[in-house]
Amino acid sequence: MFGAGLRTRKRTTMAISPVAMTLRPPVPWAPLLIAEDHCKGCELCVAACPKAVLALDRGRVNLLGYHPIRLTDPAACTSCAFCARVCPDAVFIVWAAPREAGR
Ligand code: SF4
Ligand code: SF4
Repeated sequence: MFGAGLRTRKRTTMAISPVAMTLRPPVPWAPLLIAEDHCKGCELCVAACPKAVLALDRGRVNLLGYHPIRLTDPAACTSCAFCARVCPDAVFIVWAAPREAGR
């Protein structure tokens, strides 16, 4: 009886974000990968960013029905990752700037 219950239990499969599976930095290089369809538009990252380079894209709506976050100035982003630390939905993958050869 106990074993029968185990046999009938359905196996659950874990969904793994394709963004989280990314092992290599984006090409061309960018400081952030943004899984914008996971964004709920709470703007915690906007408040946390010391460079003020994050903003909701009010011209678009994602699959969840929210305006997704957007990096407004990639060159000004310092890859500090404060945005990734505060985001409750793991929307960001942050990449450090590539080093120049010989440094
Ligand atoms: S990594 Fe830092 S500077 Fe870049 S968007 Fe996130 S909080 Fe702002
Ligand atoms: S903290 Fe995360 S969920 Fe909230 S607006 Fe920023 S990216 Fe979207």
